[in-house]
This record gives sequence, C-alpha cells and structure tokens, in this order.
Amino acid sequence: MNNTIAVIRGDGIGPEIMDATLRVLDAMKLGLQYDFVEAGLAAYEKDGELLPQATLDAIAKHRIALKSPLTTPVGEGFSSINVLLRRKFDLYANVRPAISFPNTRSRFPENVDLITVRENTEGAYAGEGQQVSEDGATATLVQKVTRKGSERIVRYAFDLARRNGRKKVTVVHKANILKSTSGLFLKVAREVAAQYPDIACNELIVDNCCMQLVMKPEQFDVIVTTNLFGDIISDLCAGLVGGLGLAPGANIGADAAIFEAVHGSAPDIAGKGIANPCALLLGAAQMLDHLARTDEADRLRHAIRATLEARDRVTPDLGGSGTTATFADAIIERLG
Ligand code: ATP
Ligand code: MG
Repeated sequence: MNNTIAVIRGDGIGPEIMDATLRVLDAMKLGLQYDFVEAGLAAYEKDGELLPQATLDAIAKHRIALKSPLTTPVGEGFSSINVLLRRKFDLYANVRPAISFPNTRSRFPENVDLITVRENTEGAYAGEGQQVSEDGATATLVQKVTRKGSERIVRYAFDLARRNGRKKVTVVHKANILKSTSGLFLKVAREVAAQYPDIACNELIVDNCCMQLVMKPEQFDVIVTTNLFGDIISDLCAGLVGGLGLAPGANIGADAAIFEAVHGSAPDIAGKGIANPCALLLGAAQMLDHLARTDEADRLRHAIRATLEARDRVTPDLGGSGTTATFADAIIERLG
C-alpha cells in the first residue's frame, strides 16, 4: 500500500494549519511518509513558477496529496492553481462532507452528516463556448454533459456510499426543464443506481433539494449532482454546519486525489498562530477514508468532535482563546 503522500504547505495560514495537521497525523502513528513540495505564492517567489513540474511529478508518483490553501498572485495571466490541478489530473469528483459539530455557532449543531459529490469537469460550470454578441445584447455558453462524465461521477458516489457504510444516494437534477443535459445525467444515474441494489437511491429537483436541505438536512446521506448545482449545494451545506473553519474537500480522479480545506489562505490572520486547523484535519480524515483506513478516519473525527464538545483550547473563530498549536494538542490528547 502507498504510504507516502505529497504535502503542499501552502500560503498564508497554510503552513500553520499543515504543521498542526501533520502533528496530529504523526501522533496517530499511521506510518505515513511526507514528500514536501511547493505550489502557489511560496513556489512562485522561490522559482518563478506557481505549479512547478517537481510538484506535479510528486502528485503523479504518490497519487495522494494533502494541500493547504494557496494564494494565486494578483495580476494578469495567472489562472487558479486549483483549476490547473483539476485539469492536469482529471480530478472529476469534488467531494465535500458536511458534518454537524457541537459548539460551532452553526444553525445545525447536530443531525447533519452528508457528503456532496459534485461532477467537476463538465456542464455549465465548465464555461465552454462562452460568447457575447458584438452588440453586447446576447450571451451564450455551451452546456455539455456526457454519458461518460455522468457515469463515472454517479458510480463514484455509489462506491463511496458503499465503502463508508452509507445508506442512500440522492441524485440532484433539473431534468424537467434542462431535458437534454440534466435529462442525460438523470437517465445515466438511474442506470448506475440499478447496479447498487444495496444502496437506496432517490431523485430530487435542485430547487426542491435546496429547500429540503435548509428545512430537513438530516434526511440526506450522499448527494450526487452536476458541476454548477454541486458548486452551490456544497457551499450551502458548509453553511449549514458552521462554515469555513470546518469544511474539508477532496478532488479525486482515477490517478490522483488531492485533499484540502475549503477555505482560502486567510492573509488577515496569517502568522498569528490562531487559524483553526479543523478543516484541513477533516480533509486528512477524508484522505484516510480514501486510503481505506476508515477506522483511523473515524478515530480522527471523534477526537475533533470531543475537543469541540469540551471547547478545549479551541481557536478564536469558535469563540475560544486557543491557538492553532494548542487546539492540535487538545485533539491529540483525545485520539484514544
Ligand atoms: P484567499 O484569497 O486565499 O481565498 P481569503 O481571505 O479569501 O483568502 P478565506 O478562507 O476565504 O480566505 O477566508 C475568509 C475569512 O474567513 C477570513 O476572514 C479568514 O480569516 C477566515 N478564515 C478562513 N479560514 C479560517 C481558519 N482556518 N481559521 C480561522 N479563520 C479562517
Ligand atoms: Mg477567499
């Protein structure tokens, strides 16, 4: 089994939350090795490149990366590094768990435990064929959905459900109106669902889904949907359970997977030692799930939950007076 992961310490609060995260992982004695590589502003200032070849090579070799937030320098000609990575490795699945944690000032401090699986490569969000007519009066774009793209994302969602002992997959669409694109997605989703008789499947139109999420989020388990709907729904779900400091995400392809915190590099608090490391830690838990070490992933999530429950040394964003480092200490003490 692969025990080496590529580690990108990132920019802003990135190095601080990565150090805390690796300290927790080390305390778990998982036998992981780290191959430290650079990207973002740190890489740019060193070598004049945002995404050095050595970093791409390391991700290709180890197939797993744990990545802190990156800053894309302001100015012309820089495209988002996350988009570059997604394209380079064809990371077709964006996977975002939203789990209730206590004492987070969220609207749903309990009962939410869902995962959004978002198709990451096609549909309206891919922005293909964008045009504005010469007189500026009409704008168009091409919305392309493929059988291949739909099949692999829905299959991913069902496999994830099976691996993680989840019971239900909800297919979210707008096939009543977008008959061609969303229609194809839904048709393929039904075909795939039929191959997983052990997992329940239901269908929801995206607008209804949003209302249901806000009113009764506990009914959801795994959600699978197309790119643009997934973009919106996954942020909605992060908001349900307390927002940025606790939201992890993964971008997964056939040959590589990158695990991260959803939040940015937060330059406003960088260097102060007060960043909440939980989002990246939960990203690391997702990574352990992906590595089929679900027991260890649960062990980590339990320690985080117990620390939040006790409000022990938590960071200022959660109303505490702890630091990134003491928060990590408190989690380590609860690893069991
Ligand atoms: P970037 O330009 O890299 O996206 P940003 O400032 O937009 O950086 P966000 O992550 O979007 O970074 O942060 C939005 C707000 O949330 C900021 O005020 C930031 O301090 C806060 N924040 C983000 N992540 C954390 C964290 N892990 N712990 C505490 N506060 C955070
Ligand atoms: Mg931001």
